[in-house]
Amino acid sequence: MRILIAEDDRATRLRLQTLVAQWGHDVVAGKDGEEAWALFGESAFDCVISDWMMPGLTGIDVVKRIREAQSREQSAYVYLLLLTSQTEKERLVEGMEAGADDFVTKPFDTEELRVRIRAGQRIVDLERRLAERNRELSTFTSVASHDLREPLRTISSFLGLLQRKYQGKLDAQADEYIGFVLDGATRMRHLITDLLAYARFGSSEETFAPVDLNQLVDEKLQLLGRSIEESQARITCQPLPSVEGDRTQLSQLLQNLIGNGIKYREQDAQPAIEIQFDTDEQADAYVFSVSDDGIGIPEEHREAVFEPFRRLHGTGGPYSGSGVGLSICRKVIERHGGRIWIEPNQPRGTRFLFTLPRPKPPNGNDA
Ligand code: ADP
Repeated sequence: MRILIAEDDRATRLRLQTLVAQWGHDVVAGKDGEEAWALFGESAFDCVISDWMMPGLTGIDVVKRIREAQSREQSAYVYLLLLTSQTEKERLVEGMEAGADDFVTKPFDTEELRVRIRAGQRIVDLERRLAERNRELSTFTSVASHDLREPLRTISSFLGLLQRKYQGKLDAQADEYIGFVLDGATRMRHLITDLLAYARFGSSEETFAPVDLNQLVDEKLQLLGRSIEESQARITCQPLPSVEGDRTQLSQLLQNLIGNGIKYREQDAQPAIEIQFDTDEQADAYVFSVSDDGIGIPEEHREAVFEPFRRLHGTGGPYSGSGVGLSICRKVIERHGGRIWIEPNQPRGTRFLFTLPRPKPPNGNDA
């Protein structure tokens, strides 16, 4: 493994460096938390061993910063081991809550340290293998979807040709069959597009920047203009705050939620959709809601609908779709460090709620 050591006591640092190198790891050491944090930013590490008490950045600060950077950059897992003195042992819960995986009490026993690092290596190896399998799976889905598109294009275009050339010349049943096949091909095309969108989600670079949600909602309403007009939907939106996020992903989220609010209504009903927000001071987050007065989601399905390709309605008819939209919404919200869930709306319909962290003030303390 590539291991970073943060230790301000020179003798301990040198002993750690020698031991860890002897056990076959590649070691880099920082003389305090600040230096270790700078080194962490310069290259990739599999494991960080950090002293708890250090002047400036403490071990807890280092742990918190690493975990924040990891969730922001979606980078590979780093195993974090804290070195604590006997007196800090009681604060262990605090260290583990901050994101440390394990701890060793100083003065440390060489064998204990060796086996704890080995346990860390097993976790890091597992995580790397899992990430590799995920990458392979995602490439497989991408390639398979691309390859499926090609023959589908041939089917659709020749059937379209057949329909245009022979409509009315064959018997009525033949016309109807051709129509069914064309519908099926269109549904399959949408399914493949959504499958690709799901597999590719997050593979393009994410840019986190301030996003004005009012502007984003306006854009979505314009884009959904036709279905809003057709359904005569009434959409009300409270003035929303700005958040820190990826504009493209948040736009996808709003489009899926508003689009579903319009789509999942009783026949001929005029849907009423409401977008609101509240502040959760304790969690330092905004809680947004998109509510509709449509057909609702039974309680037993409120979690399952976030799984990819999970649908409660058959294909075709007014509720056509692929079942990917909500799984993408969940991915978006998780990337943004929030949570998304469903509650029943009163007196009827569905209420989607999601949280997003409140942006930090420009000169806020980020330690
Ligand atoms: P899709 O709309 O393409 O089927 P989604 O992932 O967006 O895929 O939704 C999954 C399922 O959840 C839908 O098939 C539908 O059964 C249900 N659903 C989603 N949004 C709503 C809603 N606003 N009201 C009622 N049911 C909904």
